Amino acid sequence: MTKPSLLILPGDGIGPEVMAEVRKIIGWFGERRGLAFDVSEDLVGGCAYDKHGTPLHDDTMAKAQEVDAVLLGAVGGPKYDSLDFSVKPERGLLRLRKEMDLFSNLRPAQCFDALADFSSLKKDVVAGLDIMIVRELTSGVYFGEPRGIFKEGNERVGINTQRYTESEIARVARSAFELAMRRDKKLCSMEKANVMESGILWRDVVTEVGKDYPEAELSHMYADAGAMQLTRWPKQFDVIVTDNLFGDLLSDLAAMLTGSLGMLPSASLGAPMASGRPKALYEPVHGSAPDIAGQGKANPIACILSFAMALRYSFDQGDEATRLETAIETVLAKGLRTADLMGPEGGSAVSTSGMGDAIVAALDASI
Ligand code: NAD
Repeated sequence: MTKPSLLILPGDGIGPEVMAEVRKIIGWFGERRGLAFDVSEDLVGGCAYDKHGTPLHDDTMAKAQEVDAVLLGAVGGPKYDSLDFSVKPERGLLRLRKEMDLFSNLRPAQCFDALADFSSLKKDVVAGLDIMIVRELTSGVYFGEPRGIFKEGNERVGINTQRYTESEIARVARSAFELAMRRDKKLCSMEKANVMESGILWRDVVTEVGKDYPEAELSHMYADAGAMQLTRWPKQFDVIVTDNLFGDLLSDLAAMLTGSLGMLPSASLGAPMASGRPKALYEPVHGSAPDIAGQGKANPIACILSFAMALRYSFDQGDEATRLETAIETVLAKGLRTADLMGPEGGSAVSTSGMGDAIVAALDASI
């Protein structure tokens, strides 16, 4: 049987440091669970620019299109700040997302009990929280035409256009329903159908797609009310689907319910490939953290949780993904913390590799 393929792009700054810990986890699943991957590694971002003069070489792009999933660390750093916009490290990441046509962005907000005190909300509001925001990523107001700053009489006018086709809404809705069916079968769609025609169309199309998922409970909410409900009682939700702009805001809001940037994974999914798997890019939400790069201080959990998402959503290994998440929960419950997770009471932090080793030990103990 051919092994599933995984392209690893560690990138810049803390990217290679956190990815080294993910490689330990990947190795563990190969050795101990018979879940071996065909892993290749390549450059993206500033390191690719240093070698090739471009943040993403065409060969790397071609590889990303062929593999079953791409796992990315982070890109960027002060060394590259003065580069021309066209070759900035972030352009490599944007090219991957665009050419793989990754229209469905999954941002979980999951609160590990041991970290519930990190939230700005009351502990009982966030403890045990596990919701998923699905954001449309390739259309809407960030891409619609006309756009620009134009002269109108004596003053300038700034224009952006919210534009969605039925097919763009339908494909992200389908992706969200599929996800809901693997979870609690509850989907809440958020738009502003009260004031925006694109919102009326969004609600219509999501309702229509919902007819293919009779077991899923679909609800609709205005996005502003959704923001209030997310901070009031987030546990009422399971999966939320929304457009690019509202998703940008709501996913940041929901993610921060749970505390540190070093804990937040993400996935971006596209259309199914011949294998039936969606095109997929998994990456932590954080950047390359130049302020702590090279010091062994980075929290690898966001990147490890991104691999857990790959296990669940690309490789149909939901039980193994849960095993990995439980191992992380166990390690945190024992009080192990990287520096970003240290509370005001202090204590001694473990290093990036110390955290990775502890998670591997917890995995060992799980079998
Ligand atoms: P950042 O996410 O890199 O860092 C913000 C703060 O969070 C820093 O204090 C950092 O030390 C801390 N932090 C981030 N990840 C952490 C982790 N895993 N463990 C512990 N602490 C962590 O954002 P920034 O400082 O605004 O950007 C730095 C560089 O990263 C810039 O070049 C930016 O363009 C780039 N960036 C890349 C991505 C990406 O690759 N997806 C995302 C955001 C920013």
